[in-house]
Amino acid sequence: MKVDLRSDTVTRPTAEMLEAMSRAEVGDDVMGEDPTINVLEQKVAALFGHEAGLFCPSGTMTNQLGIKVHTRPGDEVVCARASHIYNYEGGGIAMNSGASVRLLEGDRGRFTADEVLANINPDDPHCPRTSLVAVEDTCNRGGGAVWSREDLAALREATKQRGLKFHLDGARAWNRLVATGEDWLAYGSMFDSISLCLSKGLGAPVGSVLIGDNDFIYWARRFRKALGGGMRQAGYLAAAGLYALENHVERLADDHRRAKALEEALLTTAKVSHVLPVETNIVIFELAEGVAASDISAQFKEHDILANPASPRHVRFVTHLQFSDDQLQHTCDTLPKVLS
Ligand SMILES: *Cc1c(COP(=O)(O)O)cnc(C)c1O
Repeated sequence: MKVDLRSDTVTRPTAEMLEAMSRAEVGDDVMGEDPTINVLEQKVAALFGHEAGLFCPSGTMTNQLGIKVHTRPGDEVVCARASHIYNYEGGGIAMNSGASVRLLEGDRGRFTADEVLANINPDDPHCPRTSLVAVEDTCNRGGGAVWSREDLAALREATKQRGLKFHLDGARAWNRLVATGEDWLAYGSMFDSISLCLSKGLGAPVGSVLIGDNDFIYWARRFRKALGGGMRQAGYLAAAGLYALENHVERLADDHRRAKALEEALLTTAKVSHVLPVETNIVIFELAEGVAASDISAQFKEHDILANPASPRHVRFVTHLQFSDDQLQHTCDTLPKVLS
C-alpha cells in the first residue's frame, strides 16, 4: 500500500470531479465570458460576505495580488515569521510589490493585536509606511494551527483604527471553518481580502480564488493580467472547484479525525519528543535528540510512506482526500517500526 502524506496538494481529481469538469460550460475568461468561472467567483465571494472574486492559477498568485493591491512600493507588510507569504512565495513581496516585511514571532504562526500595534511604524518619512497586516489561518508551519476568533476580532479593530488593510491567507480557511463550525459570513467579513485554495483539502487539481470588494478585485484583475495570469477557457478548472465546494468541504472533518489519530499514535513512540497539538489536517512532530528527520523520512519511504521533513528535527504529515482509513491503519502499524 502506498501512502502519500507529504501535502494535501498531492490529490488527483476523483472520477466524479473529472465528470463535472468535462461538462463545464466555458468561454474566454479574459473577455469575462466564461460562465463557470463567473459562477465560481461569485459563489466564493458570497460565501464569505464579499462583493467579488477572482479565479487564479495558484494561492501564491492570489496572495501576491492581494499584497500588490493593498500596498505601494516602499510600504511594509506585517506578518508572521512562519507565514507562507514570507517563506514560500519566492520573495514575491519584494519582487512584485517592492514592499518590506515586519516579521512577528507569534505562537505557531499566530500573533496578537498588541504585537501588531507595537510594530506599526510612525508616520515619519524615515520609516517604511506600514499598510498591511496578513494572517494565515490555518497556519501551515504552525502545524495547522487555528487562530482564536477573539484575536482576529481584535486585529480587525486595530487595523481599522490605524488605517491598515487586513488580508487572510486562507489556503486552508475551509479546514478552520469545518473544525470550529462557526458562521462563514461573520468570519469572512472581518477581512478586507481573502485568498482561498481549491487545490489543497478540497482536492481540485488547480486553482485559488481571491475575494474582496469590487474596487479591490478590479485592481487585482489588472495586476493578474500583467503577471500573465489571465486564463481563457479555464472554466474546466473552475468546475472542479465548484464540484469540490459542493462535495468536499464537510468531509474535511475526516481528514481532521485521521490527523488526530496519527497524533495519538505518534505520542506512544520513543523517537518522538513532541507533537504540535493537532487542530486540523497537519501533524508536525519533533524527533528526540540525535534523530534526524531526513533519516526518518527515508525509513518511511522504505515502507512506501512519503513524508517530508519540516526542519532537520521535525517531520510533517498532511492528511487529505486520498488518505483513507486503510492507509491510516497501515501508517499506524508502521510507526512503531520506524520510531521506536
Ligand atoms: C499552499 C499554500 C498557499 C498557496 O500555494 P500554491 O501552491 O501557490 O497554490 C498559500 N498559503 C498557504 C498557507 C499554503 O499552504
